[in-house]
Amino acid sequence: MTAATNPSLEDLLRGCLPGMPPVVLYNPVFAFETGEDFMQAWFKAAAGRLDPFVLVLEGSVPNEEINGDGHWAGLGVDAATGQPILTNTWIDRLAPRAAAVLAMGTCAAYGGIPAMRNNPTGAMGLRDYLGWKWVSRLGVPIISVPGCPAQPDNITETLLRLVLHLTGMGPALDLDEQGRPEWIFGRTVHESCDRAGLAEHGQFSTSHGDGRCLVKLGCKGPVAKCNVPVRGWVNGIGGCPNVGGICMACTMPGFPDKYMPFVEPDTAARVYATTARLAHGPLLKYLRDRRIRRNFDREPGWRSRGAELTSGYRAR
Ligand code: SF4
Ligand code: SF4
Repeated sequence: MTAATNPSLEDLLRGCLPGMPPVVLYNPVFAFETGEDFMQAWFKAAAGRLDPFVLVLEGSVPNEEINGDGHWAGLGVDAATGQPILTNTWIDRLAPRAAAVLAMGTCAAYGGIPAMRNNPTGAMGLRDYLGWKWVSRLGVPIISVPGCPAQPDNITETLLRLVLHLTGMGPALDLDEQGRPEWIFGRTVHESCDRAGLAEHGQFSTSHGDGRCLVKLGCKGPVAKCNVPVRGWVNGIGGCPNVGGICMACTMPGFPDKYMPFVEPDTAARVYATTARLAHGPLLKYLRDRRIRRNFDREPGWRSRGAELTSGYRAR
C-alpha cells in the first residue's frame, strides 16, 4: 500500500479525494501504538463501539481444528486467559459487524502458498472460511483482490471505491464469480502485455534477457487474469512480462500448485507457440512489414519535392 500512487495511501488518509469520508487505518505495520494499545481498536470493533468499519484480511485462514496442542495464527492476547486470540476468532467476531470484508492478496483470497497441497495447516481463503455466499450486514459480498503480492493501486483503488459506495457516493462494486473487481481482473495478462504483438508474429524468447514473448519460458499470461502489465507495479513502472519476468499466474485460484514448475511451458502453450511460429505468425509479420514499407513508412507524394509537390516548403 505504501507503493500506491493512484490513489496513494497518503491521499486516502488525508481525505484529499472529493467526497471521500475520513478514514482511519488500523494496521500492525503502520501503527504507532504497540501491544495492548494497538489492540484497542480491535476490542472496540468487536464490542460494537467502532462503527462503521471495513475488515481487511491479509494471509490465509488456517484450520484451527487441526492445530494439535498449539495454534496456527493469532493477534493480541485474551486478558482473561493469557492466551493468544486466534485469527479465526477475530474473523468470527468482526465479520458479522463489518460493513464489508476484503480478502487482500492471494493467500486471503484463495489460500495461496500456505494452502499448497499437503500443507499441515489446512489453510484456506476467506471465502472458503466464511462461505462463498456470505454477505456483510450491508449486503456486500466478500471482495477479493488477489496477487502475490496484490498490486498496490489495486488495493487502494478498491478500498476507495468501496468506501465511496458504503457512504452512498458511488455504485456497488462490479465483482466476477471469484469476487474480484471486474474492472481490474476482467482481462488476461496476455491481452495487455507489451510483448503480445511479438507473440502474434510468432516471435518467442528461447533464453532469458531476450525481448520477445516469454511463453516458451513458462509464461502463464494467456490464462492469468491480472492488470499488472497495463498498470505496472509502482507508479506505472514494471509489470512482470513487460520487463522480462514470466507471469506465474499469482492472482489465480490454483496458484501455486497448478502452475508449477513455473519455468516450464504447458502443452497448450507449446501448441500455441508452434502454431504462431509455423503458421500465421511469420506470414502476418511478412505481410505487415511489406505493407508498412510500401504504404506507410514513406512520405506521401504531396510532401515530396518535385512535380507532385502541392503543399509545404517549395525549394526555389
Ligand atoms: Fe503473453 Fe506472456 Fe508472451 Fe506476454 S510474455 S505475450 S503475457 S505469453
Ligand atoms: Fe502475478 Fe502474472 Fe499478474 Fe505478475 S502478471 S502479478 S505474475 S498474475
